[in-house]
Amino acid sequence: MEYQDIIYEQLGPVVRLWHNRPEAGNAESRQLLEELDHAVQRVAQDPSVRVVIFAAKGKHFSAGHDLKKSQEERPDPTVESRYHFEIEHYYEYCLRIMDLPKPTIAQVQGACIAAGFMVSNMCDLMVASDDAFFSDPVGHTLGAAAVEVLIHPYVLGLRKAKEFLFTGNRLTAQEGLELGMINKVVPREKLEEETLALANHIAQAPPFGLELIKRSLNRTRDMSGFRQALNAHFDTHQLSHVSDEYMQIWRERKAVAAAGGASFGRTMPKAQD
Ligand code: ZN
Repeated sequence: MEYQDIIYEQLGPVVRLWHNRPEAGNAESRQLLEELDHAVQRVAQDPSVRVVIFAAKGKHFSAGHDLKKSQEERPDPTVESRYHFEIEHYYEYCLRIMDLPKPTIAQVQGACIAAGFMVSNMCDLMVASDDAFFSDPVGHTLGAAAVEVLIHPYVLGLRKAKEFLFTGNRLTAQEGLELGMINKVVPREKLEEETLALANHIAQAPPFGLELIKRSLNRTRDMSGFRQALNAHFDTHQLSHVSDEYMQIWRERKAVAAAGGASFGRTMPKAQD
């Protein structure tokens, strides 16, 4: 597969997978996600790859799903078609990152919004630059029940996850560090170097041992009912896609878009960011 929306970069035992749509704030289109999933399955089967970094070119990690493209490609999805599209592209692709049998590190700068938050938090570790910020505003902006994979309480704690989702407010890199969501915060100009150094350090350990450590740690979380909770939330999220609230907001956005407005624009940060 030729990649267009991602870059596959191998640096010795480390593979770095870059979101590569900087002109679109690295909004995750269907194509980008399909390429990323292809790369995830590729690294899983490649014994020369010991550690995988999920990164992004440009100023921002990701503005979330590309709502503009999804509106063009799937203008009026049925309940059934949306369910099947999202379970494959949003839910199962994410879980494949989480279940990758090798350590993974998210390398995050700038905006990391909604689906960007979801995808980056599938990684085992996270290194962020000091300008990184996180939000999942879709409860406010769309009337949606968060994003598809409700990882939030597991990385933020329940109380902070509620504040994060109820307010739609941003979380800074420093706050993420204090909450344990982020392992390390570094200056922006050091982000790539520091993340790669951590990946290379991890890559020195025998790989099967690392695979088993990850398996055990993830299984520990699974025993709390983690997967069942994620599974249940996916259906709740689908319900929110067809609520009166959601449909009304969507109709309004469509009307603005039809009139030439940019209401399907991504949930991009404002100019001052
Ligand atoms: Zn959805």
